[in-house]
Amino acid sequence: MRLDKLLEEKKIGSKRKVKTLIRSKQVTVDGQIILNENLNVDATLQEIYVGDQKIQHESHVYYMLNKPKGVVTAVKDAQHQTVIELIHPSDQRAGLYPIGRLDRDTEGLLLMTNNGQLGYQLLLPHKKVTKRYEVRVNEPLTAQDRIIFAHGIVFSDGNRCKPAKLEILTSEKNESHAYLDITEGKFHQVKKMFLSVGKKVVYLKRLSMGPIQLDTDLDLGEYRPLNQAELQMLL
Ligand code: URA
Repeated sequence: MRLDKLLEEKKIGSKRKVKTLIRSKQVTVDGQIILNENLNVDATLQEIYVGDQKIQHESHVYYMLNKPKGVVTAVKDAQHQTVIELIHPSDQRAGLYPIGRLDRDTEGLLLMTNNGQLGYQLLLPHKKVTKRYEVRVNEPLTAQDRIIFAHGIVFSDGNRCKPAKLEILTSEKNESHAYLDITEGKFHQVKKMFLSVGKKVVYLKRLSMGPIQLDTDLDLGEYRPLNQAELQMLL
């Protein structure tokens, strides 16, 4: 990109101001004063300074959010707060979007990035990324449910789910608690799977997505950048 265009894009100033800065020897590229505003530069490869201000290149960001209930997994929504609006202005990036979706009343792990390619990879069905959910339902859960889930639930419309692992933690008359591992992301999948065995989901939280586990230090609505170890598992 041309040096003057880059500086304008980075909001260093108007076209005229940028020109003046360059002419007055304020701009360096890799330590050399540059007087030619048409010079082609690449901020990802070169160190560009205006005075002592370094021009940062826009790198990819990766966040994990502990999504609270009531917030929609969308970039924009006319009625409800979106997960993007939970990100502080200083952490916002152009093209930031959630990887996959959680229902408005679902809590838990939601990854966000401005790296379009990564989101796409994690959502590809053949990648079979395992997602673990914590679930509470309004009925007892049985060994028979576990077997049905393991064989692959068939919805009433004939849509067949891949085998899923149901781990029953507690089973009571009015409420049961379980973990469920699935490798797909059909619309309302978990709720529909339990409805297929006659049980209503009353609480749903995603705990992990592939190798990335929800950080238990994050309160609902909090987020943090993925750390190096997590990024290495993902990229
Ligand atoms: N399955 C659902 O039914 N809802 C979610 O939010 C996620 C998975």
